Amino acid sequence: MDGQAASRSHTGTKPPQRLFIPGPTDVLPEVLEAQVAPMIGHRTPEFEALFARCEARLRRIFETEQRVFILASSGSGLQEAAIRNGVGGRVLNFVNGAFSQRWHQVSVGCGKEAIRVDLPWCTAVKPEQVAQALEEALADGPVDAITVVHNETSTGVISPVEAIVQAVRALSPETLVLVDAVSSFGGTRIPFDAWDLDVCLTSSQKAMAVPPGLAFAAVSDRAMARAERVQGRGWYFDFLLLERYRQRNTTPATPALSLMRALSQQLDHIFQEGLDNRYARHRRLAERSQAWALSRGLGLMAEEGYRSPTVTTVENTLGLDIGHMNRFLQERGMQVANGYGPYRGKAFRIGHMGEVLDQDLERLLDALDEYLQQHGEVRS
Ligand SMILES: *Cc1c(COP(=O)(O)O)cnc(C)c1O
Repeated sequence: MDGQAASRSHTGTKPPQRLFIPGPTDVLPEVLEAQVAPMIGHRTPEFEALFARCEARLRRIFETEQRVFILASSGSGLQEAAIRNGVGGRVLNFVNGAFSQRWHQVSVGCGKEAIRVDLPWCTAVKPEQVAQALEEALADGPVDAITVVHNETSTGVISPVEAIVQAVRALSPETLVLVDAVSSFGGTRIPFDAWDLDVCLTSSQKAMAVPPGLAFAAVSDRAMARAERVQGRGWYFDFLLLERYRQRNTTPATPALSLMRALSQQLDHIFQEGLDNRYARHRRLAERSQAWALSRGLGLMAEEGYRSPTVTTVENTLGLDIGHMNRFLQERGMQVANGYGPYRGKAFRIGHMGEVLDQDLERLLDALDEYLQQHGEVRS
């Protein structure tokens, strides 16, 4: 398969660089190159065709018959959109890591009555926990939405979103389920309609392996009906306005044309690989990373049974100097991510999302083994 992204794109003197960080991820050379085509007007049939091709294929990946919005922003922008359009009254934010905490910050920042439910980091959000917190909140009146992160990139935990939706529907059919799938979409299956989600958003630069700057969200009819009743939706992220333009295969404001060309090129590649193959590859890379860590006496931060298919958070039980280790890797053209926030130095993260292939990961693990042999005694 054609996937040696950076090694073909860098023709200079530096060694090819491979990113094993949880975004941005390496982009295929033909996807990078798609961005250099000359500009066209965005009120043209040519642009509308590009938009339609992108949106239809994103709907296939989301497995939805509803709608997908494509925005020029990072994923955080669509978190704000989801809150502004989906929440008039109260929202329940489930926090089990840094990015789910961002859902809360966005909710508060948009002036919503946001109830924060703290759960232990490195564990998944469980349907029973959602049911309990929602039941308590419902005693004081309706809850417009709950927020969860599908794949907590800070800890490497994936949460059982399908079961969470079922728990919410059983208690309160009107409560929207807003899901941040920034670091899972494109790396693992998210059947939006079958799971009955309301908003599921992602960014271009993670498992989708498109340069940063685009965000996509599948949005349910239920969420659209809510938006009609919610005030203060703003303009740029107004779902109703976006929908009117989407129906004509375009966007209200100037789209990120070059990035959409990159997206279209990458979608060609994704369907060439095949979605099932792509998801299986991510699962294989995750299992390989987990097995490697455990066999080297390192730990895994994420709760067993809920380990991410796209990022492995390795517990630094050997007391390695992660900065030193990463400099060693960088000399060999590779890079992992340090632990996030409170886990800095205590963990490191292997991003194996997007276009990372089995042989790429083997090269990284070989280099890590070399480092462990030379510096295994180094203590941070
Ligand atoms: C990277 C990330 C974000 C932030 O996305 P941006 O595109 O940088 O706004 C949000 N949530 C999760 C789970 C992420 O991994």
